[in-house]
Amino acid sequence: MNVLVTGGAGYIGSHTCVELIEAGHTPIVIDNLCNSSAKSLDRVREITGTAVKFYEGDVCDETALEKILSENAIDCVIHFAGLKAVGESCSIPLRYYENNLGSTMTLCRVMAKHGVKKIVFSSSATVYSGDNEMPLRETSKTGNCTNPYGWTKYMCEQILRDIAKADPEWSVVLLRYFNPVGAHKSGKIGEHPNGIPNNLMPFISQTAIGKREKLSVFGDDYDTHDGTGVRDYIHVVDLAKGHVAAISHAAKNKGEAVFNLGTGTGYSVLDMVKAFETANDIKVPYVIAPRRPGDLATCYADPTKSREVLHWEAKHDQTDMCRDTWHWQSNNPNGYDE
Ligand code: NAD
Ligand code: UDP
Repeated sequence: MNVLVTGGAGYIGSHTCVELIEAGHTPIVIDNLCNSSAKSLDRVREITGTAVKFYEGDVCDETALEKILSENAIDCVIHFAGLKAVGESCSIPLRYYENNLGSTMTLCRVMAKHGVKKIVFSSSATVYSGDNEMPLRETSKTGNCTNPYGWTKYMCEQILRDIAKADPEWSVVLLRYFNPVGAHKSGKIGEHPNGIPNNLMPFISQTAIGKREKLSVFGDDYDTHDGTGVRDYIHVVDLAKGHVAAISHAAKNKGEAVFNLGTGTGYSVLDMVKAFETANDIKVPYVIAPRRPGDLATCYADPTKSREVLHWEAKHDQTDMCRDTWHWQSNNPNGYDE
């Protein structure tokens, strides 16, 4: 299939381009590079031997989308483009609503005009309400989001669900990611956050390489096996393969479907630190710090529906996640910058 990949130069998008190509599909990317580098797509070519057609542009720009859908016979869209920093979304909420909702609505309008009615959307475990029992199932309660970023995902899900309800020709697949980590095994593509990382794994790897003095472990008095927060970390290559499964599902099924993309296993912050140290034979200095406001003790997926319906499940283990993160970080200490 010809797959329009919005935000395809980003962390998850670039890994998904690799997996799409390896599965015989043709990704066509639009990205405004607000949080990425076009060099990621050069690296995709180095890994796969296939050049990715790239349009530098904004998904909120109807004219830019018109051009792409006119020039290419698109079968399906994977919509990654979005702003994703939780803290930033609290300080500039309007920017987040404009970008994340605006891009989704403009994209769907132009898609409908061109008769393209299959979309896979990057949602997040953050749409689940904090008062659910674990593990989280697709039927668990959503809402009560703790930040504007989470609400943008919740609202985009609703917009897409309503589109599928109004027009039975649409196929909408909502993928709720848990905690994506790791990098392609080649070490050529990976995650390079701007500034101080918010997420655990980039902070661990930047500490290991000496860019950060020490990791602050946010709380050791949670009701978990060692007192630190437990999450469902998923290797980005597994996540990328989940998108290949999702576009096959969209090609065969109309209507709306939602899937968790997680492993079903939770690891604590200290489990991840120890696994990283063991996998890479390197120390990660840390201190115990106060809890981070808004954090849950535990969050992990029930991935049964994805396994049964998408025929997808995560294959990489915690050692792969730690080893591949370090391979990317140590080969590219400054990300895609020289
Ligand atoms: P990323 O920032 O690396 O990728 C997003 C890409 O979208 C970037 O390349 C950015 O330049 C681009 N972009 C943003 N707004 C755009 C616009 N209006 N027009 C064109 N391009 C635009 O982030 P990622 O980690 O690869 O995340 C991809 C998607 O998955 C996002 O929607 C994110 O919210 C979602 N998600 C990510 C995580 C995670 O932990 N990484 C978890 C759950 C959901
Ligand atoms: N965490 C931490 N120190 C950091 C970043 C994160 O202890 O510098 C913890 C955080 O409290 C949570 C886990 O690591 O328990 C995963 O956090 P992340 O921000 O990566 O993901 P999310 O909270 O969105 O699941």
